[in-house]
Amino acid sequence: MTNTNALDVYNKLMEFYGPVDWRPPLSPVDELVSTILSQSTTDLNRDRAFKRLKERFGSWEAVMKGDVADIETAIRVAGLFRQKAPRIKAALQFVYNSQGAFSLDFLKTLPVEEACVWLTQMHGVGVKTASIILLFSLGMPAFPVDTHVHRITKRLGLIPPKASAEKAHYILEEALPPETCLNAHLNLIRLGREICRARNPKCEVCPLNEMCAYYQLAMAN
Ligand code: SF4
Repeated sequence: MTNTNALDVYNKLMEFYGPVDWRPPLSPVDELVSTILSQSTTDLNRDRAFKRLKERFGSWEAVMKGDVADIETAIRVAGLFRQKAPRIKAALQFVYNSQGAFSLDFLKTLPVEEACVWLTQMHGVGVKTASIILLFSLGMPAFPVDTHVHRITKRLGLIPPKASAEKAHYILEEALPPETCLNAHLNLIRLGREICRARNPKCEVCPLNEMCAYYQLAMAN
């Protein structure tokens, strides 16, 4: 661990990339279904499957009551459809049975940790999925950790070398002011795609190299 500060990282990325122009948020239940569909596929195929599911069934109630085989057919393009179809159906049933509606707005009244625990009761909903719903759809200060964020924050020394992605959620949520979570998350992902790639990171052009444990160590050797 270095003394790298999460807020300094956020500020540097805001200087470099600026604030992110993000699409209008999906409703929390739409985001729940979309994130289940997103597992192990591209954004494009996730969005195709989501659109086909909505076109085929017309409402979340119809999906909840629909045949798993029909849901599988609608979402086939997203891959892993035999796993995802029953998970979507069960998640919708869970929400409806608990709330009497397809709404997750009540989560806004809970602390982030409690809201996360509630969401992760659903099969197939892990801390990352829960954090995405809380951050993007409900505007809560959760911090989703995907493979890019996990890799970069380890290299920077913001999380211990052996910290799991799940543990990283809690460390980063604590380290960042609530209003920074969205831009910090999205700018780290952009950095991971463009500069701090898994193989051959382009440290020489990275705006974070002066505060990066990985780079400083490489330069010292
Ligand atoms: S300096 Fe290199 S390793 Fe560190 S964050 Fe930037 S690209 Fe990644």
